Amino acid sequence: MKKISIAIDGPASSGKSTVAKILAEKLNYIYCDTGAMYRALTYLAISNNTKLEDGAALCELLSNYAITFKQQPEGQLVFVDEEDVTEAIRQQDVTNAVSIVAAHAEVRKKLVELQQQIGKQGGIVMDGRDIGTTVLPDAEVKIFLVASVEERAERRYKENISKGIETDFDTLKKEIERRDHIDSTREASPLVQAEDAVRIDTTGLSIVEVVEAIEAVISEKL
Ligand code: C5P
Repeated sequence: MKKISIAIDGPASSGKSTVAKILAEKLNYIYCDTGAMYRALTYLAISNNTKLEDGAALCELLSNYAITFKQQPEGQLVFVDEEDVTEAIRQQDVTNAVSIVAAHAEVRKKLVELQQQIGKQGGIVMDGRDIGTTVLPDAEVKIFLVASVEERAERRYKENISKGIETDFDTLKKEIERRDHIDSTREASPLVQAEDAVRIDTTGLSIVEVVEAIEAVISEKL
């Protein structure tokens, strides 16, 4: 069967990466987590004491370090040069700073080029904020996942508890709202639903139900 491109966008913690990974595995496609790239750059900026407001300095970091993915049986690992940053890029300091880094047009230009390079052969499930609008505008399937902010904060809260991380629910909710606000109001390719994307509200749906809903869209498009 023809290998297509599947773009999955949506706000923070809407379940994009969980379902994108499952779909990629089922279809035997490549999975590309574009948020991990913005996170890896943010991690680099924090480690190098680079100002998050300095777009040119952030671009220089991108020229000096390679951000790569390695597929392992236990999942996808993220590397900055030889350093495994998979865990580090999920920490609060990175999460709370990443939207500032991702708002720079020059940073986006460089990372979008890299993402388009990864996606150019097709057979890809890519998730992010601007995949259907900017990175893969010709993707055969475009999905826009949404869920209420309460449910998204609840999911993040439970995930943290399962990892033994103590967090305050209201703080989590505020952080998600703040990130969505910066991501949707920035000038450079903000978070918006592509005109031809299918919107799925995952509030109250299980992961299996969301995957099934996307599979139904895929079969319809094919
Ligand atoms: O998907 P994730 O929550 O890991 O993304 C982290 C951040 O990276 C987002 O809040 C957003 O600021 C940025 N991002 C983006 N464009 C993408 C993917 C992520 O601006 N395609």
